Amino acid sequence: MEHCGDLHETRAYVNGIWVTSADARRFEVCSPGTEQVLSQVEDLTASQCREAIDAADAAFQDWKQRPVKERANLLRRWYELILEHEEILARLLTSEQGKPVREALVEVRYGASFVEWFAEEARRMYGDVVSTSSGSQRLFTLQQPVGVVSAITPWNFPFAMITRKAAPALAAGCTIVVKPSEETPHCALALARLAEMAGIPPGVFNVLTTARTKEVGLELTTNPKVRKITFTGSTPVGKILTAQAAGSVKAVSMELGGNAPVIVFEDADLELAASMTIATKFRNCGQTCTCANRVLVSDRVYDRFLEIFAGMAKKLTLGNGLTDDVDLGPMINSQAIDKINSLVADARARGASTYLEGGVRSDLGSTFYAPTILTNVDPDSRMLSEEIFGPVAPVIRFSSDEEAVRLANNTEYGLAAYIFTNHLTRAWKISEALEFGMIGVNEAAIGQEVIPFGGVKQSGLGREGSKYGISEFTEIKSICIGGFGPSL
Ligand code: ADP
Repeated sequence: MEHCGDLHETRAYVNGIWVTSADARRFEVCSPGTEQVLSQVEDLTASQCREAIDAADAAFQDWKQRPVKERANLLRRWYELILEHEEILARLLTSEQGKPVREALVEVRYGASFVEWFAEEARRMYGDVVSTSSGSQRLFTLQQPVGVVSAITPWNFPFAMITRKAAPALAAGCTIVVKPSEETPHCALALARLAEMAGIPPGVFNVLTTARTKEVGLELTTNPKVRKITFTGSTPVGKILTAQAAGSVKAVSMELGGNAPVIVFEDADLELAASMTIATKFRNCGQTCTCANRVLVSDRVYDRFLEIFAGMAKKLTLGNGLTDDVDLGPMINSQAIDKINSLVADARARGASTYLEGGVRSDLGSTFYAPTILTNVDPDSRMLSEEIFGPVAPVIRFSSDEEAVRLANNTEYGLAAYIFTNHLTRAWKISEALEFGMIGVNEAAIGQEVIPFGGVKQSGLGREGSKYGISEFTEIKSICIGGFGPSL
């Protein structure tokens, strides 16, 4: 990764120091596009994780007392440095994650937007003054930082999932230990480099690289000094972490799996609906928790929509994300391909027809999978209840609004849903009826720093970004002062 200069690091960052593994172990990071080893990264131990938490706890005592303007200015500087290095960061991201470099640049800017936003929000951590039922008391509330935060982040957005957690945590006055995915540790380390350059004090932002996921995960979720766990990843792992955190009643935020429906009504602008479905289905090669998992289309426009949608999907180009003009990069690894193959085989065994034949593009390498569209998908097919996490779109008919809502809500997940209609009251009523945390109406771009991100049901707990994101890292303290005599 010679093009990534000083931002390419293989050591962990703890208490402002670049550290190696205590038992001299390293793990390999591979590039999904070439399947070549990119680098050997330091594999820290659980006891080094404990030391990182101790450092974060010591740093917390000072960081929480810094004037909020100082914290905000440091975050602002971090934000500026990210933007100054955006091209290098995007290439680094593509090298380890695979997405096309222009999509990686979008992620870097999206990630930066949280740092900018929470630098601003830091100064708006207001409290309340409340009337009490007794004339001899006065009551007010403060928001205080919750304490040391553990963050565990995934490989699909290796940059933005860190800033979306770390920026509000630091803004609130918390310190953080981030454990990035072992598939994509380089973005996290680059962020640590930039935090160091920005002057964020030692111990405030720590990055712990490790492949000893379970042992380190246990430390991050049970250490008594940790007061908050913030996680983005799969629902099964989220449940394990929540259960571990329960032992010492730590606060948790969980951004877990999704099973997003796209619903296309007969009055929709079909060109718009198809292009937005392309965007949400094939972004990051389908490896996004808000990606369309099921495309539900009104009987009355089903054939026409399929034709437009498949026409657009056919034009998407696959290739190494570092080369120009690629729409879809590789999947993260061969296990991801195995999972899609098994979901597609299951649907076909239950009678699904192939409308657009995609599948593995072995001429490009074993991790490339071309857009695939299936029809006549049996309701019991696994791909309708599990996250596909790949570029496969099942397209399903419905004949009434009630049926569309019933099909859409028929999932244990509830993260994002998208509806396409030009009927105002229908848009509103359907939005109210959908059991999802985020709804896009004639819109697929629902990830922005100003939008509360999060799900209901087994898609998680809490919201990231927006004016609500900072409160995930604060506790409300009420202060009731008694002893007031009669008014003057
Ligand atoms: P994905 O399927 O997207 O890889 P995972 O939930 O497996 O999602 O991984 C998300 C993050 O959770 C990664 O950083 C991974 O290392 C971490 N992780 C996986 N299993 C555990 C565990 N038992 N304890 C702590 N972290 C874990």
